[in-house]
Amino acid sequence: MDLRENIERVRAGIAAAARAAGRNPADITLLAATKTQSSETIRAAVAAGITACGENRVQELTAHLDDDAYGPAQVHFIGHLQTNKVKYVVGRVELIHSVSSERLLRAIADRAERMWLTQDILLEINLAGEASKSGFPPEEALAAARLAASLKGVRLRGLMCIPPAASAPGENLPHFQKLRQLAVDIRGEMVDNRVDMDVLSMGMSGDYRDAVAAGSTCIRVGSALFGPRPPMSPGGTAPGPSLPHD
Ligand SMILES: *Cc1c(COP(=O)(O)O)cnc(C)c1O
Repeated sequence: MDLRENIERVRAGIAAAARAAGRNPADITLLAATKTQSSETIRAAVAAGITACGENRVQELTAHLDDDAYGPAQVHFIGHLQTNKVKYVVGRVELIHSVSSERLLRAIADRAERMWLTQDILLEINLAGEASKSGFPPEEALAAARLAASLKGVRLRGLMCIPPAASAPGENLPHFQKLRQLAVDIRGEMVDNRVDMDVLSMGMSGDYRDAVAAGSTCIRVGSALFGPRPPMSPGGTAPGPSLPHD
């Protein structure tokens, strides 16, 4: 596996998809999904130009922070977060992508307020109503956004989704378009609330081109950068197999 080559390949894919959609590739963040990777691999990725890393598990986040693995790169949290672990994440990451329930939203805001800081967050939306996945149903997204806007400890930056694993190119495009439209609708409804919801976190190794075509501003890529992962244990947050890429 050549990390530099993989990064170049994904960046070229982003650039091509962005150009085809009339977008500026610079508007799309390549977030390295670092679950199961060692501190050493993360250091190599950052040395090779990765500017943002996304962690799934509190334990791995904490270990990599203790190791000072990220260097100058941003750290994001993208995995399922239990309310009792909020204290290990709030204030330690740039952005929490996976705010998936009102209870979690309130717990994050509480913790942040007690630390005198504002935590940037995204609302995770369960677009396809999958029972196996967390996230707000689309019809509850506006209420959740209004709640977020009313809580001092958080700043709502946008939406995130993990659609079903695609088995063919183009398959997840409707999901990505739906998330983008949902963000537009919420923004339209919240003009008084001074929310700047400019982040759309969508797209992974198998479907990031479709996500970029639909307006993604942050793609979360693991296996296309680091190679295939060993399967995660039960309770892990691996979103299942993704398309073979390139
Ligand atoms: C693992 C993971 C990714 C990256 O998945 P790949 O298919 O390896 O690119 C993206 N987002 C989340 C939330 C993940 O858990």
